[in-house]
Formats: sequence, C-alpha cells, structure tokens
Amino acid sequence: MNSPKSCVIVGAGLTGATAACELARQGFRVRVYERADVIGGHVRTEWLRGIPYEPHGAHIFHTDDTAVWNLVSKYTDFVPYQHRVTIRVRSHQLSWPLQRSELSRLEEWPQVERELASLPPAPDTTNFATYCRSLMGQTLYDLCVRNYTMKQWGRAPEELSASVAVNRVELRDDDYRGLFRDRHQGWPERGYTDLVENLLDSAEIHLGQPVTCDDLAEIARPGEPVVVTSALDDFFGGELGPLEWRGVRLVSQFLPGITLSQASMVVNEPDLAVPWTRTIETKWALEKLHDVPGTIVLREYPGAAAKHYPVPDSAGRNKALQAAYEAKLAACTRNPLVAAGRLATYSYINMDQAVRQGLDTAHRIARTA
Ligand SMILES: Cc1cc2nc3c(=O)[nH]c(=O)nc-3n(C[C@H](O)[C@H](O)[C@H](O)COP(=O)(O)OP(=O)(O)OC[C@H]3O[C@@H](n4cnc5c(N)ncnc54)[C@H](O)[C@@H]3O)c2cc1C
Repeated sequence: MNSPKSCVIVGAGLTGATAACELARQGFRVRVYERADVIGGHVRTEWLRGIPYEPHGAHIFHTDDTAVWNLVSKYTDFVPYQHRVTIRVRSHQLSWPLQRSELSRLEEWPQVERELASLPPAPDTTNFATYCRSLMGQTLYDLCVRNYTMKQWGRAPEELSASVAVNRVELRDDDYRGLFRDRHQGWPERGYTDLVENLLDSAEIHLGQPVTCDDLAEIARPGEPVVVTSALDDFFGGELGPLEWRGVRLVSQFLPGITLSQASMVVNEPDLAVPWTRTIETKWALEKLHDVPGTIVLREYPGAAAKHYPVPDSAGRNKALQAAYEAKLAACTRNPLVAAGRLATYSYINMDQAVRQGLDTAHRIARTA
C-alpha cells in the first residue's frame, strides 16, 4: 500500500530542499536522497577563517517574487547586497552591463560612437552574435562579448541561440550599475548552506546516495510520489544518450593580508590570452567583513566536465533530447515522477525560480495526495 502522506525527493539542492520543506509543512513524511556527501547542491557556501567563498560560483539572491523572498528570509537572515560586475578591457575596468557614459574611455570610442548611431531599430535574434552586434555594434561586441563567449561556451557565438543573450547582454545609458533590477536582493549572512539546512530540517536525509530509476523499487513504495531534481540522463542511466552541458572549474586562493582584492564581487575577463573567464570574491557581499584582513578569490575556468549550463544550441538538438527524457519520466507507472530544478528541467534557472519550482511541485503533490 502506498502512503498518501509521504514523498521521496532526489537531490538536496535548493529545489529539493524547498519542496521538502513545504511538503513537511503540509504533514508529509519526506525522505531525501542526495548523491553528494553534503547538502546544498550548486549554491553551497563554504567558510575559511570567517571568510565566505562559493566552490560552485557566485550566487546572489534576487527576485520580484515576494512569496519566494518571504520564504527564504524566514529560513535564514539576508543582508542587503546589490550585485556589481566589472569587465576588464586591457587597462580599463568598465561596468557590466556596459554604460554608454563610460565608453569614451576606450581608444576605439570614435568608431564605437559611429556604430551606436546606426544600430537597427530592433535586435536581430538570428543567433547570439547577431543579437549582440545589433545591440552594441561590431567593435564593442568584439572587445567585450565575442571572446568571453567563446571562452565560456567553447564554441562560436553564431552557434548559440539568441536566447542566451536576451536579459544577459545589455547596453545601458541610465548609470544604474547594479546587475539586477529586482525588488528583493540580498545575500544570506550565514551563507546559502544555512538556508538549505534549515529548509531540510524536518526531512530524513540520506547522503552519498545516487539514485537512478532502477533504484525506485528500493527507495520508494509503489505509487509514492518522487520529485526528481537530478539530470534526467543521469536518472535514466544515459539510456537515450547524454545531454550536453557546459561546466566551469573554480580554483580558489586565500590572500592573507588583503581586505578586498578587486573592484567588485565579479570581474569578467574577455581577453583570450587570460585563460579564466572571471574572478569571484564573495566577501564583497558582506559589508561587515570588508575591513577584516584576508580574502578568498576564485578564478573560473571554462570547459570542465560538470553540469553547470545547459547548451541552447541554435539547432535545438539538446531540447529535443530533454523532451524525450521527459516523455520517459511521464510514462513511469510505478511512481508519479515530477521533474523540478535546474538539472531535471535542463534549464538555467535562478535561485528564486528553483525555490518557486520547489514550492509549486510540493503544492502539486499535496493536491493529488
Ligand atoms: C555558475 C553559476 C552561477 C549562478 N549564480 C546564480 C546567482 O547569482 N543567482 C541566482 O539566483 N542563481 C544563480 N545560479 C543558479 C543556481 O545555482 C540554481 O538556481 C540552483 O542551484 C538550482 O538548485 P537545484 O536544486 O535545482 O539544483 P542543484 O543545486 O544542482 O541541486 C541538485 C542536487 O541533486 C543532487 N543530485 C544530482 N544527481 C543526483 C542523483 N542521481 N541522485 C541523487 N542526488 C543527485 C546534486 O548533488 C545536487 O545536490 C547560478 C548557477 C551557476 C551554474
């Protein structure tokens, strides 16, 4: 007999933890199976000598979804932080997104100015490269975007869909230098691991337990709902072939005597001669630490065998393979399987969307239990 008030969750990242929290609040017994030996997934924060760093990359919470903001703020304390990114172009440090008022510093300014005066009225969405060129002209694109994109994605920008650039590449003229414009923005004072730990407080957690569909008979009773937040090619043992991802490798360095080592939390490096794409200094998020000696910087190198960014190829091959895996998930008769989160939906989602998906998934399961 299946229990109407219990549920299995595969993955203890932000999506799985939010679903676990909401289901437990609604009276479910929740069991979470996590492949790693630690919880938190991609948003995990680590600390060294009181200084935070993020082994999987910089994370800033930003959202217009007030219910999501209220939920995460209930489970950990956020401090205000407005994220800023700079981009190094030779000896210049420019704001990212680019601001028109800073561009006259560039030696190429006369050419840039001419190109900006003759931009098309609407962006060209043929592919990533056409979109960016139609937004900022050839010269700025070459200086700031093309090489960075080639490093980050390991392929020509023409092979990427314009959707990768929409909402990420901008040319601003309002002198607003925050990366995000959302109503709610912040950084958790004790790091994201604290948030995930608190969300998982009522769940039974099994660490070091990778799960595939072959394990369902062992971990879930027939008919018991299972939330899958792992990648579907992993969950189905790669049966239809691997989904393509672009991964990054982060290399950390502790700098003992230094309070802050760079101009902003993230510095982008578009120069092809620099092998890393950006440098991250998470300490920027906590103002109370700014005068404390010692900082940690992480250089992000592209091209690691890790599932960080789904690859939106302009031919749509990866989307089609994901759809085939989703059809397999829907056809499972032993358990109702629900895909949620960045890995299982093969999509780049921000943390607020992960929390929203976790909540919506829990509500869907609770409605049908
Ligand atoms: C480089 C980078 C920077 C980012 N920066 C930001 C940012 O600044 N702001 C923002 O809002 N968002 C950011 N994001 C997005 C954010 O990381 C995601 O929204 C969030 O991690 C999604 O959580 P998740 O639980 O869906 O996935 P994950 O965190 O990946 O969690 C999935 C969990 O499932 C586990 N798992 C996987 N396979 C199995 C298996 N077979 N069996 C059992 N367990 C398994 C994994 O170990 C992991 O713990 C960034 C993403 C990247 C890649």
